[in-house]
Amino acid sequence: MPDDDRVYSYSAVLMGSPILLKLFSHNEALAAKAFRLIKQYEDLLTVNRAHSQVMDINLAAGRHPVAVSRPVFELIRCAKAASLLENSAFNLAIGPLVKRWKIGFQGDSVPPADEITTLLTLTDPTEVVLDEAACSVFLARSGMEIDLGAIAKGYIADRVRDFLRKEGETLGLINLGGNIQTLGSPEGGWTVGIKKPFGAADALIGSLQIENKSVVTSGTYERYFERDGTRYHHILNPRTGYPLDNELDSVTIISMDSIDGDLWTTLVYGLGVEKGCAALRTRPDIEAVFVTKAREIVFSSMRHFHFTLLDNRYRLTGNTV
Ligand code: FAD
Ligand code: MG
Repeated sequence: MPDDDRVYSYSAVLMGSPILLKLFSHNEALAAKAFRLIKQYEDLLTVNRAHSQVMDINLAAGRHPVAVSRPVFELIRCAKAASLLENSAFNLAIGPLVKRWKIGFQGDSVPPADEITTLLTLTDPTEVVLDEAACSVFLARSGMEIDLGAIAKGYIADRVRDFLRKEGETLGLINLGGNIQTLGSPEGGWTVGIKKPFGAADALIGSLQIENKSVVTSGTYERYFERDGTRYHHILNPRTGYPLDNELDSVTIISMDSIDGDLWTTLVYGLGVEKGCAALRTRPDIEAVFVTKAREIVFSSMRHFHFTLLDNRYRLTGNTV
């Protein structure tokens, strides 16, 4: 983003993440309303507290369906559909494994293999039963848990963008702990950095110039722990129950809606570079920047952004159009 003294920044901590809002108007009240909106969605969707609509569903697993509000139902419907895609790395029913590993939370540990095998039996997305008419969700087996951590920030970022637009704002940037959505575009576009995996907090390997787009990154370097020389990060392979292991350090998705970005980072992370690029050929509205462990930067395509390399230890390969 251009260095502009008309830009006003507002920050908060919500969803266990630093939240930043940039507006081109000095409007404390509007920022406060946007933060309240985020908090309302957090209260509906969190699984990190005893109560929320998603927790109510989880606590009733194996016993009875729970009626939820329409936005929660729609988000769960979307998450279930993504979980049922062929070879999908995304699984909304991954909760029991996320809770057991506790990656990024106090008390993380490597579960014994037999426990992982048992927990995997509680993660079948077809056992998330949706009732459209009753707007209810039923988890068929006791012990099942929905976790929307891989998609909820994207959904919420879109709602904040819509809210700002409705309030008459034409320019804004919403950063939900690295999940970025933008409204409009200042002259020269918005500049969004891509972090250097395992680098210092402010170390960037490149930057993207975008207009009116969302930028979402998922990486192995944000939430992880190390035990006996092995690194365990928080994106789990829904088939093995262990962290996904491939050539990638991070994936960034550029898309119109942030929910697509949040979802596709997980989908594409699971596919890896080659299959990820192939999958995105059917979605010209969604583009990926892969950062590999071998310090390569690969683009699926470059229609909706410009890229500036900031660290010459990394090499650009693949599509540059
Ligand atoms: P992404 O790559 O987008 O998602 C990774 C997350 O998705 C994992 O952390 C896990 O939750 C889940 N996941 C893992 N594997 C899969 C899979 N195969 N399929 C589907 N999902 C998977 N963090 C805190 O520390 N404290 C909090 O109180 C807290 N509250 C939150 C409340 C809400 C409403 C939300 C949305 C998030 C909250 N978080 C909190 C952060 C949350 O725990 C996740 O770390 C975060 O959402 C991960 O987002 P990401 O973009 O970093 O990673
Ligand atoms: Mg995600």
